[in-house]
Amino acid sequence: MYKTVITCAVSGAETTREDNPNLPLTPQEIADAAYEANQAGAAIVHLHVRDAEGQPTQDVKVFEETIGLIRKKCNMVIEVTTGGAVGMTLEERLQPLQLEPEMASLDCGTANFGDDYIINTLPMIREAGQIMKKKKIQPTLECFDLSHVDTSINLIREGLIEPPFHYGFVLNVPGCIRYDAETLGIFARRVPKGSYWTVMGIGGKANLSAIYGAITYQGFIRVGFEDNIYFGKGVLAESNAQLVERAARIATDAGCTIATADEVRSLLKLR
Ligand code: ZN
Repeated sequence: MYKTVITCAVSGAETTREDNPNLPLTPQEIADAAYEANQAGAAIVHLHVRDAEGQPTQDVKVFEETIGLIRKKCNMVIEVTTGGAVGMTLEERLQPLQLEPEMASLDCGTANFGDDYIINTLPMIREAGQIMKKKKIQPTLECFDLSHVDTSINLIREGLIEPPFHYGFVLNVPGCIRYDAETLGIFARRVPKGSYWTVMGIGGKANLSAIYGAITYQGFIRVGFEDNIYFGKGVLAESNAQLVERAARIATDAGCTIATADEVRSLLKLR
């Protein structure tokens, strides 16, 4: 088989303690969750942070504190969000790029997000992409729809994004394209040759199925409370690490090896 990569999205922006009481919220809780996920096999942490009230924030100080705490505990690749939360301005969303993390998400189009929506016009995507290019931050090209993949290809032609390319297919967001293996296959074939990609199935059922889908098409895996709060039908996950542990077990049983943070750095040529 092949070497796969597990990303853990430990908190996200929209998940609440009412959804799952085990959700990490403070910088220390998020760092602890990242560390436990790393011990269970996650090489990358996809990072959102919260303010003192538990609300999503893109405050650079909170990111800085959280990243410092994670680095103290373990060797992990840190991917900050530039998607932020529903309703944030682009300037707000881009703030954590000031910290020059190794990776950051780059949304490649506008999408429904349940009853809400996230706006990513071409000028907005270009602005975010240019900052990442300048600071040598590896973008994860987040695609909520097949048209976003096509948009990314145009941006690559414009010279905004340089290889190696890493995609994030965000499937099964309510209001966007659903997750199924056939759909994932179309995404996987649509990206430029030699691209790497991670699939995120949103919601319990899609999340578990997407682990198997990733293995089928030789992609990377993402789990964590941002995407899914359940371990089984109606059963809440106890921790992010529990979800990572299962993903690692499924991948290992299928014959994959799980990449370490340093292996991800050399694979994606992180600076
Ligand atoms: Zn995110």
